[in-house]
Amino acid sequence: MNVERIIAEIAGEVRQCTKCRLSETRTNAVPGEGSITARLMFVGEGPGQREDESGRPFVGQAGKLLNLLLEQAGIPREDVFITNIVKCRPPQNRVPLADEVIACNDYLMAQIASIEPKFICPLGGAALNTLLGPDLKISQVRCQVFRKSGILYVPLYHPAAALHRGALRETLFNDILKLKDLIEREIREDEITDLSPPLEKSTFKVSGNTGDKPANQENLKLF
Ligand code: URA
Ligand code: SF4
Repeated sequence: MNVERIIAEIAGEVRQCTKCRLSETRTNAVPGEGSITARLMFVGEGPGQREDESGRPFVGQAGKLLNLLLEQAGIPREDVFITNIVKCRPPQNRVPLADEVIACNDYLMAQIASIEPKFICPLGGAALNTLLGPDLKISQVRCQVFRKSGILYVPLYHPAAALHRGALRETLFNDILKLKDLIEREIREDEITDLSPPLEKSTFKVSGNTGDKPANQENLKLF
């Protein structure tokens, strides 16, 4: 199946999805949109009111700021793919609950697997923690490059954070230029923090495994 059809199929499933309670209060599910050949994918937290009304991601105030940021960096919005960790609006724009994020995760993983972006930019703490782990703090890791399963991740503050805390605006406008630089140039290995080292690079020895046959499933779980 080609990428366009897979992305359309995911969107179709999302629009009918009732896997979590957010389906009960949504107007429209918001699967995500953009280029199916995108090298760069943005992942936000979840739809807000305007997104819920229109079925499109990042079209409200935070979306306007995202558009300005993309413009600043000379990145056409239609060249990237934009989605969220949950596809339905949480009531009162609260942070998505863990069970909602887990219920919705298959859709995000399927979108990533079919588009195969080189870079993913988690926007804000919720996307960061969902994609890269619960212990990372956006204020500490913004603009750093992480690698997980062959994809490079560059977390940025969520644009909505800059709407609430004006001081972050300048930071975001600087950071989007850093992101633009990173996606355009060769990134050195010493700039990358590996979150899942490839098996062949590991020096871990499985006791009893002579090396001429693969470690068994149980051993592999150690990675
Ligand atoms: N905030 C998000 O995280 N996602 C949207 O789609 C809109 C606002
Ligand atoms: Fe389904 Fe995700 Fe919407 Fe929950 S948030 S109903 S899992 S599409």
